[in-house]
Amino acid sequence: MDTKIKIKDRFFTPYISREKIAEAVGHIASQINKELAGKNPLFLCVLNGAFVFAADLFRELTIESEISFIRMKSYEGMRSTGEVKQIYGLQQDITDRTVVVVEDIVDTGFTIQQLMQQLKAHNPKEIKVATLLFKPDSLKCDVKPDYVALSIPPAFIVGYGLDYDEQGRNLKDIYVVAE
Ligand code: 5GP
Repeated sequence: MDTKIKIKDRFFTPYISREKIAEAVGHIASQINKELAGKNPLFLCVLNGAFVFAADLFRELTIESEISFIRMKSYEGMRSTGEVKQIYGLQQDITDRTVVVVEDIVDTGFTIQQLMQQLKAHNPKEIKVATLLFKPDSLKCDVKPDYVALSIPPAFIVGYGLDYDEQGRNLKDIYVVAE
């Protein structure tokens, strides 16, 4: 793997190699192939961060399935309840469907919690969460991703779709911010 890199004002060091990522993605794809066969799940990729992961995960699937893309946008105004995010771009009717949310990272869990609450209002049959990365020590909500490719300690990472100020999404490996 490459050595230390600089993105804008920060240095990052190699953290998870592309080979390890591919192995982990393959592992959860096998789980999904087994568990969701015959359900024609609809994968909802949460843009922007999850697009690389979703593309690799989806190509490892061998079951009947569909994919679509959504976005969570923040808006200000309810400071007492913290940041409120709203789903944009949901075009499918998800009534009675098995939905798999594809996320880049579950960190505090607030984003996925709000996303699930809003999806539930559309009456899906079930909602599963597949995430590339999970930071269990940062979790502040009662959510548990169903499919976790890699669990990591709390640290800021970039690459494989994840950005630092919109840069670094193109990196093939995952990097962690240097102290
Ligand atoms: P949560 O709501 O779970 O705290 O945060 C989820 C979102 O925060 C992720 O979808 C991601 O966009 C962003 N995020 C959390 N941790 C990191 C990180 O280490 N690196 C990057 N690039 N984004 C992160």
